Amino acid sequence: MMIPFNKPYITGKEVHYIYDAVATGKISGNGKYTKLCQQYFEERWGFKKTLLTTSCTDALEMCALLLDIQPGDEVIIPSYTFVSTALAFVRQGAKIVFADSRKDHPGIDEDKIEELITSRTKAIVPVHYAGVACDMDKIMDLANRYGLFVVEDAAQAVDSYYVGKDGVKKPLGTIGHLSAFSFHETKNIQCGEGGLLGINDDRFTKRAEIIWEKGTNRAEFFRGEVNKYGWVDIGSSFLPSEITAAFLWAQLEELDKIQAKRIGIWNSYYAGLSEWGLARGVQIPLIPDYATNNGHMFYLVCPTGEYRTSLIKHLKENAISTVFHYQSLHKSLYYHTKYEGNDLLESNRYSECLVRLPFYYELKSTDFSMIGHSILLK
Ligand SMILES: *Cc1c(COP(=O)(O)O)cnc(C)c1O
Repeated sequence: MMIPFNKPYITGKEVHYIYDAVATGKISGNGKYTKLCQQYFEERWGFKKTLLTTSCTDALEMCALLLDIQPGDEVIIPSYTFVSTALAFVRQGAKIVFADSRKDHPGIDEDKIEELITSRTKAIVPVHYAGVACDMDKIMDLANRYGLFVVEDAAQAVDSYYVGKDGVKKPLGTIGHLSAFSFHETKNIQCGEGGLLGINDDRFTKRAEIIWEKGTNRAEFFRGEVNKYGWVDIGSSFLPSEITAAFLWAQLEELDKIQAKRIGIWNSYYAGLSEWGLARGVQIPLIPDYATNNGHMFYLVCPTGEYRTSLIKHLKENAISTVFHYQSLHKSLYYHTKYEGNDLLESNRYSECLVRLPFYYELKSTDFSMIGHSILLK
């Protein structure tokens, strides 16, 4: 039987909480389970405010609305990321200024951001690739000096941290002005489709709730702060139903257990493949001193595209599914004609050479030793 690349983990309590939500008769959004999930993020990781969304894509769209991105505004985004990171801002008419990746890590090259800043730049959107922190001191320093907003795409970064120059360990998603998480079934904590907006700047809190509730002040009304509610701003239906939130709550309750298991898998891959990688010129994941590891993903960066093709084929013959990841967005069918910057060689290299190994909670130690063994034979 083929070892899949991903298998969403189910704790077993999801249906129990969904049953409870249904039995209570409160199935639309912003009920008991939504509040439990939001509180968990706020209390455990210290967000000023969080709002559950139907996806990370939606949370990013909320960020673009909250920052009031206008046609012609420029937003700096890594080219090596998922489409959604750019899409949210493109929908507002922004010009996307793509940045290259680091040589030692697929994340944005923090030292190449400053040269991309112009008088039209409004925001920087770093992506914590594989849950590994970008160097946030460098990015926040640029943002402060040039008066820019920072939106962290923390889709893969739940329970991961950045240790700044001040020595303080900060949860990813709590550092920029705003942040977005994903609970898509391929992420550490999942509910099929789901996301969360993190707010770290009080200026955005009130408006975020309104945008979340279709441009109405319904949330304030339910707290008894106003005696009727109506249309007060732009917005959309960004909030998920209680069924989704109930599912997610079951996962959050087991976060520590899930994380310990995933970090164990990551460490086994790392121990088994480090030397092999070094000998073959295959780049293995880097966790910089200022970052922690949340066990989101284990990838290999092959020396060439042909090497990757033959490695994937070799593993497939051994019943192991592996997948590559993003294609440089600056070269995408949709955006390449609009893109005005230089070609981005590191991003292209990760597009061509990076491969992700099977990674999921139920991956057995016999599975990953078999995977490691198959790779070592290559
Ligand atoms: C998964 C992912 C997204 C999109 O998340 P959805 O919840 O599917 O919308 C966005 N950005 C990055 C970096 C991701 O990994």
